[in-house]
Amino acid sequence: MAEPLGTTGLIFNEPLLFEQGAPGRRGYSLPACDVEAPPLDQLLPSHLVRKEIEDFPEVSEVEVVRHFTRMSQWNFAIDVGPYPLGSCTMKYNPKVNEEAARIPGFALAHPGQPDALSQGALRLMHELERFLADISGMDAVTLQPAAGAHGELAGMLMIRAYHIASDSVRTKVLVPDTAHGTNPASAALCGYKVVPIPTGERGYLRAERVASLVDDEVAAIMVTNPNTLGLFEEEIGEIAQVVHARGGLVYCDGANLNALLGIARPRSMGIDVLHFNLHKTFSTPHGGGGPGAGPVGVTRALAAFLPVPVIVKEGERFRQDYDRPRSIGRLRAFCGNFGMLVRAYSYILAYGPAGLREVAETAVLNANYLKERLKPYYHLPYDRPCMHECVFTDRRQGQHGVHTLDIAKRLMDFGIHPPTIYFPLVVQAALMIEPTETESREELDRIVEAFIRIAREAEVEPATVLEAPHHPKLSRLDEVRAARQPRLRWRRG
Ligand SMILES: *Cc1c(COP(=O)(O)O)cnc(C)c1O
Repeated sequence: MAEPLGTTGLIFNEPLLFEQGAPGRRGYSLPACDVEAPPLDQLLPSHLVRKEIEDFPEVSEVEVVRHFTRMSQWNFAIDVGPYPLGSCTMKYNPKVNEEAARIPGFALAHPGQPDALSQGALRLMHELERFLADISGMDAVTLQPAAGAHGELAGMLMIRAYHIASDSVRTKVLVPDTAHGTNPASAALCGYKVVPIPTGERGYLRAERVASLVDDEVAAIMVTNPNTLGLFEEEIGEIAQVVHARGGLVYCDGANLNALLGIARPRSMGIDVLHFNLHKTFSTPHGGGGPGAGPVGVTRALAAFLPVPVIVKEGERFRQDYDRPRSIGRLRAFCGNFGMLVRAYSYILAYGPAGLREVAETAVLNANYLKERLKPYYHLPYDRPCMHECVFTDRRQGQHGVHTLDIAKRLMDFGIHPPTIYFPLVVQAALMIEPTETESREELDRIVEAFIRIAREAEVEPATVLEAPHHPKLSRLDEVRAARQPRLRWRRG
């Protein structure tokens, strides 16, 4: 049976750092400094110098290290166990990427260093752009955006600039009802009215439905492929033709490209603009709010609008080009999350074309394996071969009063991170499971066993599921209050 792994024996009663230590205790022991330094208030304006920090903790080095290490162990992480969070692609991050990112020439490069002294970094960025262009079939790529949503914004700004440059006033963007919430948000930020497209009964977009909505006011359609039901958009080619015929462009949310790598190129499906999530498909770490990277690929027709700086190769030299009069401008300071770019570059080189194709094949195989094994126990609303993830609901367990949230919480007791829940919205009470390609057959079987056990418990002892999780430090948190009234500061008493 799926017993919890690695989640017992932790110290749960951790006092705050403020409650530890003793007056006069210090985090270092070094010989006294023998350099005469002027008093602080001569170095800095005196009104900026604080005499005393009230209640500042006075702790030794070992107290600090143990405090933070113990707290880190309360957290779930991809290095602790499976993390089948649908759409988020929480796959294992190979440590060779970390080695590469720590090479001093990369890790210590200063963002203000002149191009002449940054040739290696610029070459890496230029080559990564070429790799992503090859993988997707797009003509040009920018590495500027710092996340998928930032990539969407960059892409939609380029689409808007393209239409403005051709004197075409367009007001609407079509977005399917399965889209990630960032899609309509990005379109709205660019001033477009969002027109939702209902998904077909089979879980993908129908070209005829798109045709009935597209007119000369449509700037673009934003499609996600594979979509958030984990299904391939089978009519994508026709949809692109229908939109292009009326002068619109096709934006593809490629956050989940891990199902297509080395097998199909979005450009061949008629895509004009595509964003990648390096922190999903290309294995750079993510979670906890960042950092990410959301490069965008475009066709030649849109290349003039790419954000600055654009990295150009002249002979054997590389240069950041800011002189791009039609550019949408800067998206962020300097060159972006350079460390993320090094990791993705290293990942792509380490796997090579055949390896990347195998990543996609295994991601799809693993998701279909889970889908088939869980199908007898959980309601599967779209029973078709899936891509990198599969979506179930709580319909059967709901008859016993056990719902999606309860199932997700109970999984934590088995050392498994809950899947994505209640998304996509078109599926009532969704459980969206993405195993990723990095889980072994044994690990997948453990996930399956945990799900099956929960399905049985729902029937015979629902309280066990309803009161879960039983093992973690905290059980059911008030998530709404945590978000609306976060307590970010400690005060004594
Ligand atoms: C993750 C995701 C995004 C947003 O990416 P961020 O890097 O979190 O901004 C957009 N669309 C889809 C389908 C995603 O899975």
